[in-house]
Amino acid sequence: MISQFELIGDNKVGVLPKQVNQLEMCREIAAQKDIQENDSSFMLVDLDKIIERFNLWKRELPMIEPFYAVKCNTDVVLIRVLASLGCGFDCASREEIDIVMETGVSADRLIYANPCKTRSFIVHAMERDVRMMTFDNAEELIKIGKLHPNAEMILRIAVSDPTATCPLNLKFGADPVLAAPQLLKLAHEEGVNVVGISFHVGSGCNDATAYRTALSHAKNLCEIGEGYGFKMDIIDMGGGFPGAEHAHNPFEKIAETIRDALDEFFPETDKRLIAEPGRFFAAGPFSLAANIIHATEVPASKITKDPKDSADHGYMYYINDGVYGSFNCILFDHAHPIGGPLFEVDRNEKYMSTIWGPTCDSLDLVEDKKLMVKMEIGEWLYYPDMGAYTLAAATTFNGFAKPVPMYVMSEEMWANIKDSNHI
Ligand code: PLP
Repeated sequence: MISQFELIGDNKVGVLPKQVNQLEMCREIAAQKDIQENDSSFMLVDLDKIIERFNLWKRELPMIEPFYAVKCNTDVVLIRVLASLGCGFDCASREEIDIVMETGVSADRLIYANPCKTRSFIVHAMERDVRMMTFDNAEELIKIGKLHPNAEMILRIAVSDPTATCPLNLKFGADPVLAAPQLLKLAHEEGVNVVGISFHVGSGCNDATAYRTALSHAKNLCEIGEGYGFKMDIIDMGGGFPGAEHAHNPFEKIAETIRDALDEFFPETDKRLIAEPGRFFAAGPFSLAANIIHATEVPASKITKDPKDSADHGYMYYINDGVYGSFNCILFDHAHPIGGPLFEVDRNEKYMSTIWGPTCDSLDLVEDKKLMVKMEIGEWLYYPDMGAYTLAAATTFNGFAKPVPMYVMSEEMWANIKDSNHI
């Protein structure tokens, strides 16, 4: 059980003798809440897990500096812990720049990685001395040339894994063969300083060979840029790395492909290699516990839409987090969260079930046609790996609160980070 509380920023963090098992910790918290008759949903945040992920990154890709993509989850404790580990940050707006710098991170650890930036945000970045920023079009180059003469521009090229969960290159990235060389020429003519190449193969990458293709283009474009007198000493490999431990395409495999491609295209390079992982850090540390606020029996056919099932029992559950809250990842991140009873139950028979969010909108559907044991009003459901693209875009539509974060860490971890300037 929690032995002491410490503060990270203004946030209370429970300290335990050793790293928690997230499921068991959620059970403890939920049992406590049951005694207090408090049924609000909560998000357990296992801070040791962040360190575990950071160490995994350092082990597999030690030559690449991670710049955490803040858009994925702007939780300030997550940011402070990553900052204390020496992580850099990818920010896409004025607000994200300010959130990160508020934690004491210096401007040289930030990249403003949004190829189409608001003019006033560019001025703000200049005032805060954030220099590294991406572009993929001529108009942005000219805008930056006027507004931020000290900017260090990184040309984002479009190289895509078309099978990624969220392909991004419809919106961003210059064609590496046709447009990118022209942009380097224009930058030279306009006197804008280009320092490197970036790409994002798509969030939730399924085909690691996209990184290899991108690195081969990056090599050519660095040579073209050097021909114009640019130093071209940064390669930014974007995001796309899986967040869940048992991902279909494991991180270790992607890392191996990247290491091989770096050996092939940038052997013994003195270039600065960076990446912008988002879900890789944010997904695993967050587990959601949501309360069943209502349950109702229906003919199973209402769920399966098959009249043959009309004699079977089915159940519709309503929980206190939904698509307007953390489960917005179902719409925006093409996610399919799979939950289950938080506590072990001695009921075995499974029924066709639907899990709805709490709002009055039927779009607010969390899981459908799910076979699950019968649950009661007031019981809890547990969803692991809920930190990526969940809380960041959650709303309080219909007056339903977002889940409350409950931070925990081990004594060992606290000892390691407590003296950091970012804590
Ligand atoms: N970098 C940029 C520019 C992005 O747009 C995103 C996600 O949309 C990321 C990094 C993070 O991607 P991921 O969460 O797949 O690592």
